[in-house]
This record gives sequence, C-alpha cells and structure tokens, in this order.
Amino acid sequence: MSYDSNNIFAKILRGEVPCHKVYEDEHTLAFMDVMPQADGHTLVIPKMSSRNLLDAEPKALGSLMTSVHKVANAVKQAFGADGMLIQQFNEAAAGQTVFHLHVHVLPRHEGRPLRPHTGRMADHAVLAQHAERIRAALGAGAE
Ligand code: 5GP
Repeated sequence: MSYDSNNIFAKILRGEVPCHKVYEDEHTLAFMDVMPQADGHTLVIPKMSSRNLLDAEPKALGSLMTSVHKVANAVKQAFGADGMLIQQFNEAAAGQTVFHLHVHVLPRHEGRPLRPHTGRMADHAVLAQHAERIRAALGAGAE
C-alpha cells in the first residue's frame, strides 16, 4: 500500500493542522496525542514520508529513535512515571489508524490502567499544559 500525503500527520508536518508541539529537529517532530491513553501521551514522527515502519527508509530510523529516546526521558520526568511504554503499530490489522509512521510514548504508573486507544478527545488547554511540562523537562536536559 502506498503513502497518502493527505493523512493528518502529513498535514501537521506541513503546518496545515495545528498540534501541541513538544520537540522538533531537522528530521523529526514530537507532539501531544489528541486522544491520550495517559496524561503525557506523546507521538514522535519522522519528517520523511512512510506509512509505517515497514516501508520506512532505514536511514530515517536512527534519528527517529534518537528523538524517541529524548522525548521518552522528558515525558518520564515531566509526569513522574514509573515506566515508559513505547508503542508502534503497522497497518490496520495491527491497530494502526493514521498512516504516517509514528511512535507512541506513554508514561505508565504502577496500578494505573491506560485509557482506550483513540478514545476520548482531550481538552486543548490541558494538552497545551502537558506539552509545556514536557518542553520544560527537555529544556532542563532530561535525556
Ligand atoms: P495509531 O493507531 O495509528 O498508532 O495511532 C494514531 C494516534 O494518533 C492515536 O493515538 C490518535 O489518538 C492520534 N491522533 C489521531 N488524530 C490526531 C490528530 O489530529 N492530532 C493528534 N495530535 N493526534 C491524533
């Protein structure tokens, strides 16, 4: 299956749709998931186009994982998480709903279940506040 450049993350990358950005560099962008499964649920995407991991250029993966590493440590610190879940789905049969490669960064706390995948839309003011907490942790050098 081919890449559709009208997917929502491609629109975010082009600046056509807003997002609560937490991190950006030459190759990657990280922003808040609008239907967070936990407070602090962040998505990290490569700027290079691919549906998912399977059709990605291998050269896009190093910078993607470097950003996942950086953002995961910042989210862990910002939300006082006990652990971090790093998740990535490939094709609809595996749970993928947006077809631009992305990695989920989810803070986990002992005994606190996740909310459903693509469940309820979060309040934008709350997402903005959460993004600010993560940016502050990044600024403080959490990695
Ligand atoms: P997937 O199921 O493809 O791994 O996950 C797609 C994720 O993107 C879901 O967790 C969903 O909540 C999130 N999502 C869907 N639409 C938007 C959007 O317009 N903006 C943002 N920031 N996240 C979105």
